[in-house]
Amino acid sequence: MSFDFSQLAKADPAVYEAILGEIRRQAHDMEFIASENYTSKAVMEAMGSPLTNKYAEGLPKFRYYGGCDFVDQVEIIARDRAKQLFGSIGANVQPHSGAQANAAVFLAALKPGDTILGLDLSHGGHLTHGSPVNSSGLTYKAFHYGLDPATGRIDMNQVRELALAHRPKMIITGASAYPRAWDWAGFRSIADEIGAVMLADIAHVAGLVAAGLHDNPVPFCEYVSTTTHKTLRGPRGGLVLGNKDVMKGLNSAVFPGTQGGPLMHVIAAKAVAFGEALDPSFRAYAAQVIDNAQALAARLVARGFSLVSGGTDNHLMLIDLSDRELSGKDASEALGKVAITVNKNTVPGEKRSPFVTSGVRIGTPAMTTRGMNAEDAAMIGDLVADVLSAPNDEATLSRVAGQVAAWCEAHPVPEVHIDWSARR
Ligand SMILES: *Cc1c(COP(=O)(O)O)cnc(C)c1O
Repeated sequence: MSFDFSQLAKADPAVYEAILGEIRRQAHDMEFIASENYTSKAVMEAMGSPLTNKYAEGLPKFRYYGGCDFVDQVEIIARDRAKQLFGSIGANVQPHSGAQANAAVFLAALKPGDTILGLDLSHGGHLTHGSPVNSSGLTYKAFHYGLDPATGRIDMNQVRELALAHRPKMIITGASAYPRAWDWAGFRSIADEIGAVMLADIAHVAGLVAAGLHDNPVPFCEYVSTTTHKTLRGPRGGLVLGNKDVMKGLNSAVFPGTQGGPLMHVIAAKAVAFGEALDPSFRAYAAQVIDNAQALAARLVARGFSLVSGGTDNHLMLIDLSDRELSGKDASEALGKVAITVNKNTVPGEKRSPFVTSGVRIGTPAMTTRGMNAEDAAMIGDLVADVLSAPNDEATLSRVAGQVAAWCEAHPVPEVHIDWSARR
């Protein structure tokens, strides 16, 4: 991808050089971090626009600042497209990130000291779902459900038992490292039994939901939060959706509740990304993401690796190394040597420290944007298996590094994700 950095190169060589280094890294590495993706150049152009200069506290047409006519147009487009993508009555496109989106939902729905129930961090949950090191865990009384050790899937009986025992005001669904579909209706009926509200945090699977390839939680939940930069393939940011009863409170919880002025340049980029996701070709992309994850997972299983839950329904899988000498940290370092970028991850029943872990999380959204097909995914599954089976063998590492470099050379990071000329 080409960029015009003519001013930056002169003004600040140190920052310029570091950015060039990162652009090269993104081109030379196979990116398998499940939460990352490559945005289109159009998204980056909107993000790099003079809209960053504008203050626009408030909502479109109800701003605390003058001069908001054009940023209002942008935010209305973003909001309308978000509602259309997810079939939601209300949307607020201002949260700066997924964590900020969740903070706004909590502020809207809860009082300090209220009880919440979410998925355990070491079973795939997120820090913002009540971890003691996050404000959610410090402000609210958090309980956690987990995966059934036999199946690697969410244990709905345990969810119901915990809900009846602790009577949380909010049940949180959604995860950062869960490879399976969610039973939104099952959670809703448990929430109804105890009069709880429900949040679905679809930060990871939002793109699959938007494409209609993962069940949509919107009909079942008061609140849905997401990031815009993972499978949704937009700029780094957050988004909250709400039904008609909660939208007013949710808007005030975003501003002034948890944020100041919205990042209008990022909102413009969200609008562009939502437009891309509404294009019919995005569905083909999302379908390929899932096909690729399943092809890669199948190859790893065929090569003798265990996966949490045995496979995947979505864009990610978790290799479970708990019965091996190799830790998640060793595995991700070995893969890093051949320019396959992944992250170490805790697994259910984790026995190693969170800095070491017994798991590796692999996701296909970024590599699929780059043109990976199911055949490539199976071939790369073999490369991963080769490295993890002989992490200290220089000959293996050097052969795999060559194969990775050749694939990356043949598949440059694309500037354009949707062929607009074919449509207009
Ligand atoms: C990534 C993620 C978030 C946080 O998003 P940030 O933009 O990094 O703040 C929140 N919830 C879940 C489930 C996530 O996976």
